[in-house]
Amino acid sequence: MAFNIALLDIIACPLCKGRLKLDKQQSRLICSFDRLAFPVKQDIPVLLATEAQELTPTEAETWASS
Ligand SMILES: [Zn+2]
Repeated sequence: MAFNIALLDIIACPLCKGRLKLDKQQSRLICSFDRLAFPVKQDIPVLLATEAQELTPTEAETWASS
């Protein structure tokens, strides 16, 4: 995955404008506040609420504490 980690400093959640966390294993960006995961497609983060997936309660807990 060639996603540029520096992007994390400039991109934000489209809903709460909060910081996103990178889930390297699943190539997605996590908003622990909204409990959503935004996909990264071909190294481009797709920051659309319509594309976001809800985190499971377990995932949300994991990401909230990381
Ligand atoms: Zn958010």
